[in-house]
Amino acid sequence: MTDCLFCKIIRGEIPAKKVHEDEHTFAFEDISPQAPTHVLIVPKKHIRGLKEAVQEDAELIGHLQLAAAKIGRQRGIEEGYRTVLNVGPKSGQSVFHLHLHLLGGRDLLWPPG
Ligand code: AMP
Ligand code: ZN
Repeated sequence: MTDCLFCKIIRGEIPAKKVHEDEHTFAFEDISPQAPTHVLIVPKKHIRGLKEAVQEDAELIGHLQLAAAKIGRQRGIEEGYRTVLNVGPKSGQSVFHLHLHLLGGRDLLWPPG
């Protein structure tokens, strides 16, 4: 999508600290980290959000979670990390290209705010 921040990051038009890339996913450091590890994992396909995902996106969404697990392993944060998918403005979703947050490297509170 032309006018989407994360599509621009995937295309390399806006700089980001890349963490992981494969055929279907791209992961980069969050610009405003909320934990020692705060990585965003996004599908290369533009999907507006979880609400807009369709059945054919199921494998892709699973792929994001497994990419998070791989990064969690690489970072040595397997004692406790969280993957978060904000859905809709009331959840705090501010970028409308589906993305999974990977947060870890510190104690995480429950329930989240
Ligand atoms: P959300 O609030 O779930 O939509 O998450 C959007 C995330 O994108 C926030 O955690 C922002 O800090 C992050 N973000 C916004 N712009 C950039 C950017 N240019 N590079 C990396 N992360 C960004
Ligand atoms: Zn996009």
